[in-house]
Amino acid sequence: MKGTSVIDFFDRFPNEQACLQHLVDRRWLGHTGCPRCGKLGRWSPIRGTRKYQHACRALISPTEGTIFYRSNLPLMAWFYALLLNCNSCSGVRARFVKRQLGIGVRSAHALCNKLRMHLAAQARPEKVGGPGQAVYVDETLLTRVVTGPPRQAANAIAMGFSCNGQVVTGIIRNRRRQTIVQSIERFVERGSTLVTDGHGSYRCLEKLGWDHIVVDHSKAFHNFEGETTNPIECYWPHLKRALRRYHQVGKENLWLFLAETEYRYNRRHSAISPFDEAVSSFPEVSAKTLPNIRKRFVWP
Ligand SMILES: [Zn+2]
Repeated sequence: MKGTSVIDFFDRFPNEQACLQHLVDRRWLGHTGCPRCGKLGRWSPIRGTRKYQHACRALISPTEGTIFYRSNLPLMAWFYALLLNCNSCSGVRARFVKRQLGIGVRSAHALCNKLRMHLAAQARPEKVGGPGQAVYVDETLLTRVVTGPPRQAANAIAMGFSCNGQVVTGIIRNRRRQTIVQSIERFVERGSTLVTDGHGSYRCLEKLGWDHIVVDHSKAFHNFEGETTNPIECYWPHLKRALRRYHQVGKENLWLFLAETEYRYNRRHSAISPFDEAVSSFPEVSAKTLPNIRKRFVWP
């Protein structure tokens, strides 16, 4: 995986103003006009605040609609924590971020969760596969998930699709046929060849018009054509290693961990580093958009 070094980071973001200016450039400079007068034109920073003023005297906060909005932490701290997360192999714990940034443990937890929301909102394939392409499908049981209070162990089931080295994963309610077929219809392009294990819920796929190859794991982990479900099977250890590192994950936040791990995994061969990509677009993350972002990872 390509990374961004700490030296590159401090070259690009030496101070608070550089971070803010980066946000301004990425979010609206040259793309859209001023929300009040509609014209392009000069924006000037207002000293001592995170606001900018347009030539028509309209005030705008470049952090509005991002995870940084109304935060007391410096933007540099946010960016640096994002660097740590994106450069890591299996995530960083809030306690580590707390020590790195010199902040309280509660703010570190909130910050890490917000960063995961930002990663979850980044670009992701809507559907995988296509005519003639193989899509590997599997589900797995995730332990180390808790609900509460009072804290209780709760398991969750993750389902995943892998195609051309990219994975799409989500949490499903159960392993019933209806749930599994619904997720397949939603995320896999028609015309793809589905490769699954011998689980009973996949048996109806051929009847539903899918090209279906079964690898019966009770006999062997490959079939006579040499087909395996390894592309998706290989992703689960990545995910489970990340969850193991976090010791315990709350069930309501599990989707964020799924999103974070998927984000890094899908960019393991990309030419641009995951951090550079994460700071190049700032999709809106707010109370309004969050339910939709969650729906990408929590499947009905
Ligand atoms: Zn204006």
